[in-house]
Amino acid sequence: MPLSEFEIIHQIFQQQKVERSDVVIGIGDDAAVIDVPAGFELAVSTDTLIANVHFPEDMKPKDIGYRALAVNLSDLAAMGAEPAWMTLALTLPEANNVWLKAFSSGLFRLAEQYDVQLIGGDTTRGALSITLQLHGFLPKGRRLTRSGAQVGDGIYVTGTLGDAAAGLKCWMRNEQSSVWLKQRLARPTPRVETGIALRDLATSAIDISDGLLADLGHILDASHVGARLNLANLPLSLAICETVELEQARELALTGGDDYELCFTVPEDKEDEVIRLGDLCQITMIGRVEAEPGLRCMLGAVEYTLSDQGYQHFS
Ligand code: ADP
Ligand code: MG
Repeated sequence: MPLSEFEIIHQIFQQQKVERSDVVIGIGDDAAVIDVPAGFELAVSTDTLIANVHFPEDMKPKDIGYRALAVNLSDLAAMGAEPAWMTLALTLPEANNVWLKAFSSGLFRLAEQYDVQLIGGDTTRGALSITLQLHGFLPKGRRLTRSGAQVGDGIYVTGTLGDAAAGLKCWMRNEQSSVWLKQRLARPTPRVETGIALRDLATSAIDISDGLLADLGHILDASHVGARLNLANLPLSLAICETVELEQARELALTGGDDYELCFTVPEDKEDEVIRLGDLCQITMIGRVEAEPGLRCMLGAVEYTLSDQGYQHFS
């Protein structure tokens, strides 16, 4: 028996464990009411996931739920915000109880980890699409943005790059071998704690959803600076190196999307403090901000330039 809209809301979405004291009215009324703490600003981010566009259709519903929140957490992490509340607009071809239970268990698992409460949403019928809006807060004036990078700053990334794109390749080819890479695609690790720790350290930050070159490019554009990258320093996982050639691993690290790692810049005189962040996750310096516009990718003494056709050397 398919569930009614009321049953979906009651039996699935009102069953989460997180109960925040700052939620005045949660699911069940015409709008949610939240109590934003004094001295803080709200950070709000929305992402829509559409089957076969943003994730393979045969991805497990548990992973789809997990991923929907993870990509939004990553956006808030890039702003240095602390996540708190979410709303969910869900469009489903049918009210499948088994699917909904699995989806919500993945969603709620990550939500519990970060104390994020589902405070409302909308449920409609149609092609599978998941829109999640996440709200978090920031001490007034202490947000991270894309626009503050300064000439001389070091450029850093968290984690390893290219794994999700390599995982997607394995998925398409139906390869069993790299479970870990596929997991990096299905369950990205949002760098929430690192983002919060970067508030007092980074001059700019962004999360890598479209590939390092594209997303670092946004920082450079917004900050009106250029940069030089050392390709030999790109952090590559053991799994990606075992799956593809080094050159292809580097290409995936530069242009592959869906990693949801952070890219950020730190002034040279604060670089010692970055090392301490290594307790939270792997952090690698990959280059430096320069005054000359554009992005210069170096491998030893050889320089590779970017063009509209993509990354020339690797294409
Ligand atoms: P309305 O018709 O007034 O918009 P709904 O019947 O759509 O109300 O929703 C009733 C309550 O259930 C609201 O509080 C709404 O926020 C919540 N809700 C609906 N769908 C979802 C969902 N997918 N996830 C979480 N809360 C939901
Ligand atoms: Mg409604």
